[in-house]
Amino acid sequence: MRTVLLGAPGSGKGTQGVVLSKKYNIPQISTGDLLRAAVNAGTELGLKAKSAMDAGALVSDDIVIGLIRERLSQDDAKNGYILDGFPRNIAQAEALDSMLAELGQPLQGVVLLDVAFDDLLKRLTGRRTCKDCGSIYNIYYSPAKNYDECDVCRGPLFQRADDNEETIGNRLNVYQQSTQPLIGYYQQQGKLHSITGTGNVDDITAAVGAIFDTI
Ligand code: AMP
Repeated sequence: MRTVLLGAPGSGKGTQGVVLSKKYNIPQISTGDLLRAAVNAGTELGLKAKSAMDAGALVSDDIVIGLIRERLSQDDAKNGYILDGFPRNIAQAEALDSMLAELGQPLQGVVLLDVAFDDLLKRLTGRRTCKDCGSIYNIYYSPAKNYDECDVCRGPLFQRADDNEETIGNRLNVYQQSTQPLIGYYQQQGKLHSITGTGNVDDITAAVGAIFDTI
């Protein structure tokens, strides 16, 4: 099942990706996670990506397309995957399409998590992530039982460096200008499914799952 979760920063792609990846036993592939790992490891690629990430801008297409090409070639992606945060613009979507066409394994579906713009700010400023297992919480909507400790693995929770108000503004602008056009792109391909991304997390998982089950 080769799928993409599409949506603005804070729309819940990461949260849903973690759960759906377990449910369908396919990897969630997040370019944001891959880039943050490279930044933390201090690799050359990480150093190149860091300034764009700190500013809430897009990292260059060459870098992220290279990361995805490598990641999709790994064994665990053979039975499918959930892409989260990639593609982010039309050029990336076209590169992905031609990469997958070469393999004879086109994308099967794209699910848009639709969240009103006004809700996104609180979802982003309140977000906390487990350093150990990647589970995602929100101090306003879905706090961990013990303030700064993960419910799942008891790992420490942290706030992402780019989840501050100034950077968030840039990220939302980038979404509107560069990423939103992908909605039309995938609509034209007949692959777009749209669901409301607000409300109970389990209900949203069920709604995405119902779409996954048909593709
Ligand atoms: P995310 O975790 O998806 O919110 O991504 C965090 C940051 O990583 C973004 O604000 C960008 O700076 C960078 N990034 C992640 N995915 C991409 C992508 N597909 N293209 C360009 N930059 C990306």
